Amino acid sequence: MLRMKQVLWITAGVAFLGLGLVGTQKYAVGKESMANHSVVEAATVTDTAITEGPTSVHLQWVKKKGKIKVGKTAVFQVESQEGSLESETIVWSVSNENKASISQNGKLKAKQYGTIIVTAKAGESQISCKLKILPKAVVGLDAGHQKHANGGLEPIGPGASTKKPKVAGGTCGVVSRVPEYQFTLDICKKLKKELKSRGYRVVLTRTSNDVNITNKERAEKINKSGADFCVRVHGDGGASSARGASGLYPSGRNAYVGKLSAKSYALSKAIMNHYCKETGIRNRGNVQRDDLTGTNWSKVPVMLIELGFMTNATEDRYMQSVAGQEAMVTGIADGIDQYVEK
Ligand SMILES: [Zn+2]
Repeated sequence: MLRMKQVLWITAGVAFLGLGLVGTQKYAVGKESMANHSVVEAATVTDTAITEGPTSVHLQWVKKKGKIKVGKTAVFQVESQEGSLESETIVWSVSNENKASISQNGKLKAKQYGTIIVTAKAGESQISCKLKILPKAVVGLDAGHQKHANGGLEPIGPGASTKKPKVAGGTCGVVSRVPEYQFTLDICKKLKKELKSRGYRVVLTRTSNDVNITNKERAEKINKSGADFCVRVHGDGGASSARGASGLYPSGRNAYVGKLSAKSYALSKAIMNHYCKETGIRNRGNVQRDDLTGTNWSKVPVMLIELGFMTNATEDRYMQSVAGQEAMVTGIADGIDQYVEK
């Protein structure tokens, strides 16, 4: 269909060109020689036009997408308005290869969130569309505590008459002497980097130690950020023999966030399983806690991980080692992957 039309159009063009030349150039060159010259040129043009058919086509979308999540694939397809195109004549590209890749049959894989342009080219014709790549999920991370405790009181949940200190002091590494607020921030920063590389958007409640953000304010910050869920990161303290990690989540009877209990438990369980498997730290289990201000003000599923006992020499040493922290971060990220992909 396409080729027949083109041949007809080109033939008409050649006839017109020949006539024009014959008419205007009659004094400069002899009619016959000019006419012959035109025919030679026209024959070349005709051949080229047929072999490079797509140069003059108008592309249109058959399949495209406007939105996709990191890790997902989508098929893009175009055709010419004049008729079908052979797929090998189309060249596919994306504006940012760090964010997505596309095969030469139009299969796109989303790798990182952001907005990109997808382009199909056939000869000199091309068509583009915008594709928004969404993060796998938005993760809220709260690095427990801060440099200076805040002993002022705040309600432990919306409408609660019970009040607790705004931010407690936290514990400290028995061997390393690293304070809990520093340790939790270190882990959260590393975790953010890891989660970003896996296609998540990450929101931190704090990025330095010298802040004054109450537990209620931390939850509200996460609520406003659009986070899908929240992980609160802490180090435990107790007797020197006490060891292991715990996951704390709200119960179904929680007056403020009871409805988030099942999802919070699923989050806690997934993180704890992967965390303990990756680090070898003993799993003390998932424990219901309804007295935690930072949990009770949340509007999204929430769990608090006690990474291990900073008051236990072995665990403190492990948790301050580079290899230990790498395993801890991998374990938590694996748990988040499992929770999100379930
Ligand atoms: Zn703590």
